[in-house]
Amino acid sequence: MKVVPQLFMVNALGENVDYSNYGYRNKNCYLLISSDDCEDCYFGNYLWNSKNCMDCLYVTNSQVCYELTDSHNCYHCFYSDELENCNDCFFSYDLKGCQNCVGCIGLRHKSYCWFNEQLLEEGFKAKLKDLNANDPSHWVSKLKERKGDVFHRSTTTVNCEDCLGDHIKDCKNAKFCFDSYGLEDSKFIVNGPGQIKNCYDFCGAKELEASYQGISTGGPGINLLFNNHAWSGCANVIYGSFNVASQYLFGCAGVRHKKYCILNKQYSKEVYEELAPKIIEHMSASGEWGEFFPIRFAFFHYNETLANDLFPLDKEAVLKRGWKFREEEGVKGAPVQERVKKCADCGKNYKMIDHELHFYQNEGLAQPEKCPDCRHKIRMNKRNPYKLWKRQCGKCGTEILSTYASQRPEKICCQQCYLSGTY
Ligand SMILES: [Zn+2]
Ligand SMILES: [Zn+2]
Repeated sequence: MKVVPQLFMVNALGENVDYSNYGYRNKNCYLLISSDDCEDCYFGNYLWNSKNCMDCLYVTNSQVCYELTDSHNCYHCFYSDELENCNDCFFSYDLKGCQNCVGCIGLRHKSYCWFNEQLLEEGFKAKLKDLNANDPSHWVSKLKERKGDVFHRSTTTVNCEDCLGDHIKDCKNAKFCFDSYGLEDSKFIVNGPGQIKNCYDFCGAKELEASYQGISTGGPGINLLFNNHAWSGCANVIYGSFNVASQYLFGCAGVRHKKYCILNKQYSKEVYEELAPKIIEHMSASGEWGEFFPIRFAFFHYNETLANDLFPLDKEAVLKRGWKFREEEGVKGAPVQERVKKCADCGKNYKMIDHELHFYQNEGLAQPEKCPDCRHKIRMNKRNPYKLWKRQCGKCGTEILSTYASQRPEKICCQQCYLSGTY
């Protein structure tokens, strides 16, 4: 893996996509991570089919949105979480089919509501002046206070049968899965956007079947064991790294359109079939077989990875585990260049780009005081961890599993109580 050149960033069929990684068919995007089919999107993670969105996280099929998380089919929605089919909603949480709402929680098909109070159109428009008179952080903290008063559903599962997890949709028999849809008979999958069947232990998978342990795998793939990136029709690949459209590989890296290779060397079908079981036997005896690549193989420092997003550790904790930690490289001190600001949180300098300045101007938004990394961290912190705790429904008393930890103050209810009208 160290000899074969690695892709500096993963972007397929992209056009004018700067500082972005894990992208597919994106156009005019900047600092966009793990996102597909987006146009004019900036500073986002996990965006799909979206246009002109900034600072969004886990958003699909949306346009002109800002500081939005876990939302779908939205237009012109800002500073909100868990919205679906909404437009012109601000500082809101868990709305469906709503328009022109501010500071609202748990509404369905409503318009002109101000902190859940129904107003007439004129009254609502007059109130909008208040909105601009205050700093966004004022409304964000007001919403946060109100979130403490309502019941939250234990996990977000939509159209799922016999499943455990959070933010999953259209799944059947998927256990301990998160931020995924279209899973069947699978377990321990995170970030799996569709068509995954009979798979275990994946972070980033799509169109994948009968596979075990991997990162960014599929599109499509079948029978893939212990793979670090395997794409576009890989099948029967064991312990691979960045292989494309290849079958019957063992311990190969960076192989394309090949069959029957071991440690990147070509063999005949017969020899491969004779050698592969012998290697497995040897690895089993030495205790190497059956586990993913050890962490010492990692190309990146811990604090550069998704792991740090989900399980943040400080330098000391990382080094104590014998892992790599990357020292911050950003420039600190007073910015000297035009359009460069100093982050209010970490003190690093960050650059404002044309598109974002236009966006803030067009939408009457203040420029952010924090750098893109710190903004991302805040959005990530709003989401619950990939962990389930035993809780009791606060309404009917049923035992449930929830991503809200037992000691958290929020009131939690089960799926049925949520659907029968939580608020
Ligand atoms: Zn910062
Ligand atoms: Zn209940």
